[in-house]
Amino acid sequence: MKIAVIPGDGIGPEVIQQALGVLNKISEVYGISFEFTETLMGGNAYDETGTPLPEETVKTCLASDSVLLGAVGGPKWDDLSRELRPEAGLLGLRKALGVFTNLRPAILFPQLIDASSIKAEVLGNDLDLMVVRELTGGIYFGKKGKEKIDSGYHSYDVMSYTSEEIKRVARVAFQVAGQRNKKLTMVDKSNVLESSRLWREEVEKISLEFPEIELKYLYVDNAAMQLIRNPRQFDVILTGNMFGDILSDAAAMLTGSLGMLPSASINGTGPGLYEPIHGSAPDIAGKDMANPIATIMSCSMMLKYAFQKDDAAKSIEDAVKSVLEEGYRTGDIAQKDKMVVSCSEMGGRIIEKIK
Ligand code: NAD
Repeated sequence: MKIAVIPGDGIGPEVIQQALGVLNKISEVYGISFEFTETLMGGNAYDETGTPLPEETVKTCLASDSVLLGAVGGPKWDDLSRELRPEAGLLGLRKALGVFTNLRPAILFPQLIDASSIKAEVLGNDLDLMVVRELTGGIYFGKKGKEKIDSGYHSYDVMSYTSEEIKRVARVAFQVAGQRNKKLTMVDKSNVLESSRLWREEVEKISLEFPEIELKYLYVDNAAMQLIRNPRQFDVILTGNMFGDILSDAAAMLTGSLGMLPSASINGTGPGLYEPIHGSAPDIAGKDMANPIATIMSCSMMLKYAFQKDDAAKSIEDAVKSVLEEGYRTGDIAQKDKMVVSCSEMGGRIIEKIK
């Protein structure tokens, strides 16, 4: 398995180092062989090459089976023009890889239930849901404008979707549901929006290819309420770009901590991008204090969704749970009576537990 590795900026290299340790252990235990190629993106790439996304990086990523990213950005590069900023590298890479689906799981580790702002009895101890968000279409990419009119201005952002854009992300969502508990909830606003009505039509058609998946529909306002009221009713949520942007952050907060949450951006055929949802955390960079679990869990997602190695993916999840169970915490998830450890110690302990 060829993996392009982008450590990036800030805490990126620290969390990636632990993630690579985990993959090396997986390789030993499960006999999967990985070939890692480290490559530049973000602020460090700008410093070395004058651009946040060197062509060489795009080539390396496209020639790989998967891409593992730490994080990019930091105050050092904040004053650069928009196209030279580290974040432009990330957007450019997503575009180059054509990753139109974003997978954002919200898994609550029972050991961290107090970190959530939602009551423990609502969360239960097995909350595990996945938001599948369309990533390259919809209102964020539709026609937009601002025109002067007599009374001020008229501005607009068009929410547009084609059948093809809907079908391709829907297929991925059904496949993901097939690898989980086989329940899919389509979230839209089809009582008001024409584009949502097209989503329902197309998703209904695709559902015929996946008779084993139970499909339900919810309006987005109701979905927002249900996520807080009874999140355990969900397995996989499929939705468009803007609704997914909002709901995936709400779902993330059910679990409490930024340092715990992985993500994947995929297109179902080419290499996907696996990364933690947090940024480069400049405030703690270089201090060996970062929580490496989000990046380590991104490796678990990669094993499951890119390489179909469910056992190996689960062994990572189990190792994380086991270390939390023993009471080890990084600073961001510190709790009374628990032991606060460094990034490298947390990584090392997880690696030890993989079997
Ligand atoms: P951030 O996620 O980097 O940090 C927010 C807070 O959470 C900070 O206090 C930080 O210390 C803490 N935190 C984040 N991840 C942590 C971890 N793994 N362990 C422990 N604590 C953690 O968000 P920000 O401060 O808004 O952004 C910092 C930089 O990161 C900016 O340049 C921003 O553009 C960039 N950014 C990059 C990505 C990405 O690479 N995908 C995503 C978001 C932000």
